Amino acid sequence: MLIVANWKMHKNISETFFFINKIAENFENRKNFIKNNVAILCVPFISIDTAIKQVKNKNLCNFFVGAQNCFFKKEGAFTGEISARMLKDIGVEYVILGHSERRCLFNETNEFINKKVLSCLNEELNVILCVGENLEQKNKGLTNKILSNQISAALMGVSKENLTKIAIAYEPVWAIGAKKSASCSEIEDIVGYIKKEVLGLFGIDENLNSTLKVLYGGSVNPENAYEILKIKHLDGVLVGNASLNYESFLKIFFCI
Ligand code: PEP
Repeated sequence: MLIVANWKMHKNISETFFFINKIAENFENRKNFIKNNVAILCVPFISIDTAIKQVKNKNLCNFFVGAQNCFFKKEGAFTGEISARMLKDIGVEYVILGHSERRCLFNETNEFINKKVLSCLNEELNVILCVGENLEQKNKGLTNKILSNQISAALMGVSKENLTKIAIAYEPVWAIGAKKSASCSEIEDIVGYIKKEVLGLFGIDENLNSTLKVLYGGSVNPENAYEILKIKHLDGVLVGNASLNYESFLKIFFCI
C-alpha cells in the first residue's frame, strides 16, 4: 500500500525535522508489523532537503520524499518555478501533479498538467496524478466523464512502459478537507472504473490487479483508513490534514 502525505503549505524545516524524528522513534518498535506499506512524504519545496536527509539518517527504508508540484521546463526565465530536473537532482522520487487546489486556485488545465507529467517521466520521477470531480459535476452525474477527460489528457504521450511510474489518486473535490470521505462503495466503483479506463486507453489486457496504481484521497483519517484501505483494487491513500500529525499519520500507516 502507498500511504502518501500531502502536507500542502505546512511545516517549516524544524517542524519537518521533528516530524521525521518522531516517526523514526515510533517506527523502531513496530518494524516487524510492516508488510508492503510505503510512505511518501510530499513536503513543501523548502523542506525537501531536510526530509531526504532525515529519512536517510534515520534509516526509514519504507519512506520516500516527494514534491507537491513542479514546472515542465528544464530551466530558463520562469521566475519562482522549480523544474522536474531540479527535483531529481535534490533526490526527490515522487511528484504530486494536478491536485485540485492547483487546478482551482492556480488555474492549471489538463494540458498544462500533461506537460508536467511528461517532464517528470523524462527525469524518471514517479508521478502521483490527482483527478476528481467537484460537487456540481457529481450532482449532474458527470463524474466518469470528468475523470476520463482528466486522465486521458494528462496521460497524453505517456508510454505504456511508463505507466508503472504513475499512480492515479482519485480525489473527489467535495471530499477534500471535508468532514466525510466518499463512501467505500463509491470509491470501489471509481477505482475499478479508473483502472479499466487507463488499461483500455493503453490497450493493456490485464486484470485490475495490474501494475497501475490507484489511490483514494479526501478526508482519510485514522478512523476510516482501515476500511478504505481494504477496498478492492485500491493501492493506497493520499492524506492531507491527517498527515500533519505524526501520530495520526502512523496510525494510518500501521492500520493495515
Ligand atoms: C488532499 O488535499 O490531497 C487531501 C486528501 O486532503 P484531506 O485529507 O485533508 O482531505
